[in-house]
Amino acid sequence: MPLPRPAPAPDATKRDLALEVHRRLCAEYGCPVLYFHALSPLDELVSSLLSHRTKNADSARAFASLRAAFEDWAAVRDAPVAEVERAIAGVTWPEAKAPALQRTLRALTERQGLLDLSHLAGMSVPEATAWLASLPGVGPKTAAAVLSFSTLRGRALPVDSHHHRVAARLGLIPKSLAVGPSHAVLEALLPEDWDAQGFYDHHQMLMRHGQRCCFFRGPACGRCVLRDLCPEGQSRLGTTPA
Ligand code: SF4
Repeated sequence: MPLPRPAPAPDATKRDLALEVHRRLCAEYGCPVLYFHALSPLDELVSSLLSHRTKNADSARAFASLRAAFEDWAAVRDAPVAEVERAIAGVTWPEAKAPALQRTLRALTERQGLLDLSHLAGMSVPEATAWLASLPGVGPKTAAAVLSFSTLRGRALPVDSHHHRVAARLGLIPKSLAVGPSHAVLEALLPEDWDAQGFYDHHQMLMRHGQRCCFFRGPACGRCVLRDLCPEGQSRLGTTPA
């Protein structure tokens, strides 16, 4: 299976910026961050597929409802799609997510002969990312979530919409770069000697900053701890970068 093409080598300025952003946000919000759950890779895959554009509490409820309604993931795969849709009714677009989830589970079964992802533990993160991303419905964010958030605890960097917005405003990525390809670019900025916790913390810090300060509409640049580093903040505040 071809590995994804590596991102171009980042310039040192962007690496330094990413590290300074990480340092300041860790001081602001606190690092290390506790992992929010410890699901198996397959459970995490299902959970991640449900969570797209859905609040954490709603996708957690839908995941619990799915587990309660069906004996195992094979039963979810083989159930009438309307039953799956009913079980995940609390997420956004259940009518699309139910058949998509079944498609992913069927493809995994065809490929592995069973519903199991434990073989990913024996792969490097780039290999495991490529393997996961070749499943239907699995993109870079879902693959990174499976590798980072599950019990695999891999050195992978999920990029959600908050993380992506903050990174673009800071100039870590071009504003025109979509979320999918931004994964490789942002991951390449992180030090090679960081462990999985460092990657996880970085994701959590950028995401939290997007949720608590760098809002989609009306970012609170005046109280932002990154404002002297941020071209967007400087422009909004009408000041000159330090
Ligand atoms: S200065 Fe403004 S735009 Fe820049 S990161 Fe902070 S809140 Fe976001």
